[in-house]
Amino acid sequence: MSTAARTGTAAEPAIQVTDLVKTYGEVSALKGISFEVARGEVLGLLGPNGSGKTTTVTLLSTLQRPTSGSARICGNDVVARAGRVRELVSLTGQYAALDEGLTTVENLSVFGRLTGLRGRALHTRIDELVEQFDLGTARDRRVGALSGGMQRRVDIASALVTRPEVLFLDEPTTGLDPRSRAAVWDTVAALRGDGITVLLTTQYLEEADRLADHIVMLNQGSVVAAGTPGRLKQQVGAAVCEVTLVERDVTAAVLGLLADLELVEAPTDGTASGSQAHPRLVVRAPNGMSTVSEVITRLEKASIDVVDIGLRQPSLDEVFLQLTESPR
Ligand code: ADP
Ligand code: MG
Repeated sequence: MSTAARTGTAAEPAIQVTDLVKTYGEVSALKGISFEVARGEVLGLLGPNGSGKTTTVTLLSTLQRPTSGSARICGNDVVARAGRVRELVSLTGQYAALDEGLTTVENLSVFGRLTGLRGRALHTRIDELVEQFDLGTARDRRVGALSGGMQRRVDIASALVTRPEVLFLDEPTTGLDPRSRAAVWDTVAALRGDGITVLLTTQYLEEADRLADHIVMLNQGSVVAAGTPGRLKQQVGAAVCEVTLVERDVTAAVLGLLADLELVEAPTDGTASGSQAHPRLVVRAPNGMSTVSEVITRLEKASIDVVDIGLRQPSLDEVFLQLTESPR
């Protein structure tokens, strides 16, 4: 059977989610989300605690059924063709599903046998994974004795004993120290080279920024933004120019001088934060440094003194905070 016949038409996206809804009694965990992931891509599903990340992953891996809406894995509906979907996907959870009393190799063997791998094929696959995930030193050690980062890597390796089309990694680095986190990042980056489609959930912007081709941001069960990391940063606006003035009585004049630039933040009232505070205003800097030097020139010409002036890029954190702030 050809690969296309096994996994649906290659043109079909690896993951296609349409108006997916999941409610638990009164709780709307997912309020109708839609997104697509192309084959071989890494999607970062980003959101704070309780935003619906795990629910999404459980629906896509057929562990639960959607309340309404639909999802397809390589063209296969997760309800109508759940059995087929299970053959295509692999899932590693936030909490390792390993047997701590068994060694790395023994754990990988268990997962291999579960999926029908035996004998030489199984051993070859395990050797490949030990090599790929740099688990040589962990090979014959009990998993319980390994560091958190190593355990997480064994966990991810166990999900790959039978090569899936789509791998779900649910918060693979939550609870890890920075070094272990970096090791898991390397692991995920290596998966990209294998052409496996990865859906990675995370609460960490840095992680999504670093690993994902595209990001879908969830908040309270809804998609609040989607796009490449770069696009999302742009969405919150281009860079800004921040100006802190010496005197408060010139703010009106400054606003006049910069009237052609979009005001992002009106001059702050210096008195509010104490007598030392200087009024500060923020304008959009569509041309980056050129805008800043233009602002400096205009202020100089008008003999207006500044305490500070600078160019600032919006961070992905700002995008995230802006988009996930609960409406009050
Ligand atoms: P995340 O993984 O982003 O932290 P979840 O998908 O686990 O979020 O949860 C989304 C929402 O659904 C939360 O409000 C959570 O309390 C609720 N929820 C998740 N699973 C269940 C369940 N089995 N029963 C009731 N509510 C649930
Ligand atoms: Mg979760």
